[in-house]
Amino acid sequence: MIILLSPLVLADEPKNLNTTFEELESGVTLSSDDLKTKLKYLKANITLTDLDNYLRLQRVLCWSTDAYDSAQRAKGLEFAQKQLNAEIIKQSPETFADLKLCRAWFYQVAGNVDLALNEYNQVIAQAYQLESPRLIADARGLRGAIYSFQGNYALALEDLYSAQQLYDDLNLAFWSRYNLAEIATSYRRFGDPHTAYKYYAKLEAKFIETGDLESATDMVTEMAIALEELGENEAALKKHLQSYRYWQQEKDELAQSFVAINLAGILIKLGRLDEVQKYLDEAQKHVLPTDEAFYSFMMLFRAQFQLLQGQPIAAIPLIEEAKSAFLRVKNTRGLTQLYMLESQVFAALFQWEHAYHSLEHFNQLHNELDIKLQTHRTAEMQTRFNTKQVETENLLLLETQQIKEHELQILQQNRYLQFTVIFLAIIVIIVISLFAYKQAQKSKLFSTLALTDHLTKLANRRHAYTVGEQAFSENHDVMALILFDADHFKKINDNFGHNIGDKTLISLANIASDLMRKSDLVGRVGGEEFLVILPHTNLEQATEIAERLVDSIAMTDLSDIAQELTMTISAGVAAREQDRNFSELLQRADKGLYLAKSSGRNCVKSG
Ligand code: GH3
Ligand code: MG
Ligand code: MG
Repeated sequence: MIILLSPLVLADEPKNLNTTFEELESGVTLSSDDLKTKLKYLKANITLTDLDNYLRLQRVLCWSTDAYDSAQRAKGLEFAQKQLNAEIIKQSPETFADLKLCRAWFYQVAGNVDLALNEYNQVIAQAYQLESPRLIADARGLRGAIYSFQGNYALALEDLYSAQQLYDDLNLAFWSRYNLAEIATSYRRFGDPHTAYKYYAKLEAKFIETGDLESATDMVTEMAIALEELGENEAALKKHLQSYRYWQQEKDELAQSFVAINLAGILIKLGRLDEVQKYLDEAQKHVLPTDEAFYSFMMLFRAQFQLLQGQPIAAIPLIEEAKSAFLRVKNTRGLTQLYMLESQVFAALFQWEHAYHSLEHFNQLHNELDIKLQTHRTAEMQTRFNTKQVETENLLLLETQQIKEHELQILQQNRYLQFTVIFLAIIVIIVISLFAYKQAQKSKLFSTLALTDHLTKLANRRHAYTVGEQAFSENHDVMALILFDADHFKKINDNFGHNIGDKTLISLANIASDLMRKSDLVGRVGGEEFLVILPHTNLEQATEIAERLVDSIAMTDLSDIAQELTMTISAGVAAREQDRNFSELLQRADKGLYLAKSSGRNCVKSG
């Protein structure tokens, strides 16, 4: 039974691994030391033989990369690339899709938005095929964020709502909040900063409640941007400064730089130019062209700052830099602002034609945005209307997922059950076989006991007669019997004792057995009287054998049994003639024996 329990024990063992995985997958921010320890623990305890966990680990490893750190991102990209080429990953479609998603996320952060979007589309299609809610939520959440950034609000909201519902249903609180923040941002970009602000405020409170101060601070930044769009610049400045101080205290220079860019923007708006330089210089030190979303705005503000400082020529290369960054990430809103600035710069340089062209670009993009906003506004209504439908679809998806998990569980249980049944069957077969074997041995022993004389191990009288009768009925032509008896055996007993007598009888039995052929049977039919059944043997042959027996007994040295012990036998022979049955043949052999005794013993006579 101990063996039966062992699969269950094995199934329970990875509990600790599972908890670690769940922590890492929940999205909860961990300190880099904690993250390292956890990853190390997983790596040390998972081998390729534990395939499910191995695959899960590869996903976690990819997603635990800090994509905003360009060195780490390069490593992460290399890792994802390598895994996607590995045979073992290709065999697990879900792992493959998730790693592809992770790689696309790196592409996105590196500014390769088109490539990222293309890959997200593929992963989403794959995720629906695999009916994996988590993968669908992750991929649609990411795609929604890109759509939102690019100004495709209807598409963005459709993706983000769908992801939102799945995250809520899957109880992934962190991701649910993260995604909700994206929805809020979409509202802001959509021209509804008021709704956005309300969401952000709610999220900030939740993040503070869970002790996730980094995310709470991100919300403060978002609230500031929403306030900016509501025209409440002073309030916006306060919020920006709040998050700026937080990152400063946390010594996160990059995050601090991102806020510095926002601060520069708002200070320009407020006309507090003397404070702008400091923030722009600080950002310049840490923000790289690969941080495209921030880099583009940093360049835009730097150009704006130059113009306001009366340096329109210095602004031109900065505008070009910002333009290519905005174009790369397809940020229409940024570009609109940029063309307005470009027009102002050219105007300051009295380059009226250029200024006019820029203004034309501005108008065109502005119109496009307006039209987009118009269509998206109706589309947004549509999306809200469709939310119910999305909910139902997602619910179905989750149910399917649960059914799949349940099936998997049953499969697993069946495997154990199968093992148990096979194991029990083997045990039962072994027990039955052992029992049957013992029984066979026993009955063999019993039948041997029933047929054998216990002293000499020869056939007993009953068995000897049965064999004799059988031989008589089978051999219609020739067969013979030798009946022999120890001479004066009483004397042996009297002189040497009963024990020696027994040994002598055993010796006699052995000599007789050795002398006979395999087809013959020697039996002990009386105390010191023996019968030999000789099939296919005539009188002449039988007599010869009997004489040989009589002679060899007389010549046997019995000194190892007792000093001066000698023994002879007398034998009667009969070969089948007119006898009607075995009994008649036996009587004639007995007659021969009688004749031998009366003729002085130690001889053979036929009867
Ligand atoms: P005879 O030559 O006429 O056969 O003389 P005998 O003494 O052999 O004949 P009898 O029939 O008078 O005696 C047989 C003796 O064999 C008697 C008995 O004590 C002895 N005997 C029979 N069975 C056994 C046995 O199993 N063990 C021993 N030790 N003696 C036995
Ligand atoms: Mg005798
Ligand atoms: Mg006798």
